[in-house]
Amino acid sequence: MDCDQYMLESEPRYYPAGNELALYEAAYSMRLPVMLKGPTGCGKTRFVEHMAWRLQKPLVTVSCHEDMTAADLVGRFLLGSDGTYWQDGPLTMAVRMGAICYLDEVVEARQDTIVVTHSLTDDRRMLPLEKKGEMVRAHPDFQLVISYNPGYQSILKDLKESTKQRFCALDFAYPDRALEAQIVRDEGNVSDRLARTIVEIGEKSRNLGGEGLAEGASTRILVQMARLAAAGLPLDQAAQFALIIPLTDDLDIRDALSGIVDACL
Ligand code: ADP
Repeated sequence: MDCDQYMLESEPRYYPAGNELALYEAAYSMRLPVMLKGPTGCGKTRFVEHMAWRLQKPLVTVSCHEDMTAADLVGRFLLGSDGTYWQDGPLTMAVRMGAICYLDEVVEARQDTIVVTHSLTDDRRMLPLEKKGEMVRAHPDFQLVISYNPGYQSILKDLKESTKQRFCALDFAYPDRALEAQIVRDEGNVSDRLARTIVEIGEKSRNLGGEGLAEGASTRILVQMARLAAAGLPLDQAAQFALIIPLTDDLDIRDALSGIVDACL
């Protein structure tokens, strides 16, 4: 198994907002599964990448979606020229190699898919491959991490209580103004002043949330806006391109967002 391709070569830059590094390290030292909760684009994926790099462990990331089946995670028999053969899915691969397995947006997956992780998240640390008739014992370094956006939470899309209660959880939110400006400056390669203006636009867009906007601009959007500005676009165009048009189709809300941008320029 080629672990090397799952190792992070260089440090993924991550600015902590609190003591999440220490909390995660404590959970990892006991191999406890961790759940990261927070809106889209607020740094959850970057945090796991940073932790995998800090701990020098391979990272296997799976983006969950509603058509994902248990077989997509654990593996399946495939037909080759010499007959059928078994192919491990990403979860089984991570369990065998001792990777951190990150299931991104886990509520998107169906409940019966998520349930296959249960025997890995308690003292058994085993993964049954029912179709193959094999019980895989997790490598001592294996850890499961899931992310979850509570904003999308609904009766139809929530984690089972029996799943939730297996995880330690960290709350993520958009960083405070000073920290977000630092992130936008360094990730977007723009000046301090421009980064502060972009963050102000972001904050004001979030205040429009509830008035037709689901969540307002994420840190990811602000970084993208900064990168467009670094590429030479005037800020109002960068805002249209990276923030206003992606966020909404409602013309009144677009007008309100354009007003916010103009007021901040
Ligand atoms: P999520 O997984 O929560 O959807 P990401 O981790 O992909 O979000 O974050 C989106 C982008 O925002 C990252 O690629 C990075 O540029 C930036 N970012 C967000 N938070 C941080 C942080 N704390 N430190 C450094 N970069 C961050």
